[in-house]
Amino acid sequence: MFNKKLINKFNTIKTPFYYYDLELLKKTIEVLNKEASKYKFIIHYALKANSNKRILEIIRKNKMGVDCVSGNEILRSIDTGFIAEDIVFAGVGKTDEEINLAIKTNIFCINCESMQELEVINQLAKNVEKIINVALRINPNINAKTHHYITTGLEENKFGINTWQLDEILNKLKELNNLKLTGLHFHIGSQITDLEIFRGLCIRVNEMQHWFNDHNIELQHINVGGGLGVDYKEPQKYSIPDFKSFIEIFHKFLEIHANQKVHFEIGRAIVAQCGSLISKVIFIKKGINTNFAILDAGMTELMRPALYQSYHKIENLISKGLPERYDVVGPICESSDTFGKAVMLPQTKRGDIIAIRTTGAYGEVMSSGYNLRSPVRRYYSDDMIF
Ligand SMILES: *Cc1c(COP(=O)(O)O)cnc(C)c1O
Repeated sequence: MFNKKLINKFNTIKTPFYYYDLELLKKTIEVLNKEASKYKFIIHYALKANSNKRILEIIRKNKMGVDCVSGNEILRSIDTGFIAEDIVFAGVGKTDEEINLAIKTNIFCINCESMQELEVINQLAKNVEKIINVALRINPNINAKTHHYITTGLEENKFGINTWQLDEILNKLKELNNLKLTGLHFHIGSQITDLEIFRGLCIRVNEMQHWFNDHNIELQHINVGGGLGVDYKEPQKYSIPDFKSFIEIFHKFLEIHANQKVHFEIGRAIVAQCGSLISKVIFIKKGINTNFAILDAGMTELMRPALYQSYHKIENLISKGLPERYDVVGPICESSDTFGKAVMLPQTKRGDIIAIRTTGAYGEVMSSGYNLRSPVRRYYSDDMIF
């Protein structure tokens, strides 16, 4: 990903910043689109993973829809040229303002997560005399076996409607005349690397479909969410996720009715590998059992390690020295501001350029101004003029 020319260029740019390889992004999208189109599956990009306009433009040009989790994400999508019919909207706590926006813009579907939400959407739709397409986000009670902070499909999680509430919901829906139930929605978690989990999801989705069919409800679409993981350990070798195996699981195990559409909401797997956080070593400091490499990037630029102990590959782009052990940390006044402990790096010195890999998803979007840090900057491979 980083040739000599690029590294020399990095040396002239003020760090820290995110660097996005748009060629890799395009290739990744191409592979995903190729696999999904075999079965006419519809892909929505989960905008919350990275909402940079340059990235969204590439995604839009490649004919994907979007999955939004806030009103501002809907506005950003429309602003970038996505059409309303390609937008889905999920979230456990949608405000009236956000729901009104979704109603006004005629998006494809609102994914609803509770009884009260259905009642509120119905009322707001009634106010403007519209009938709104809704899908029920069902909590399938499946353990995605990922970090517990990014597991969403267990009954103990706040997301979705639990299956034991469905009788009551169906009865209620009969009274809610401004809603049209068009589909079911599932999303069980993120960074799922065991594809067996998705097979389990398919089987649960089939059971749920049968239940709805037994209640004389035909569903126009099934949305199976996202969550496909990426390889944080070997970003170079596995720069594009195994979309083929992922998509085939759904083709093989999901019972799809005639005229029924299958939707996906993929975030991380599309954008994670194309992004790196580029930073410089400010100081090397001796510790008891290790040395600290103190970077000019911190948890304010990349929160994932502090937030859920995530691993990112760390590379020194300059040094060719012998390997030594470092705790790679940021400058922020928190002990959790640590990118990696006991990381083996070639002997590292003040001024070396460090790349923190696989940070295109849930990196820049989570940056903050804590410690009154400057807003993080970004560069794209297209902009690099040598
Ligand atoms: C975050 C999210 C996604 C995307 O998850 P990834 O793991 O990034 O693919 C999809 N659907 C919903 C509802 C989400 O909240």
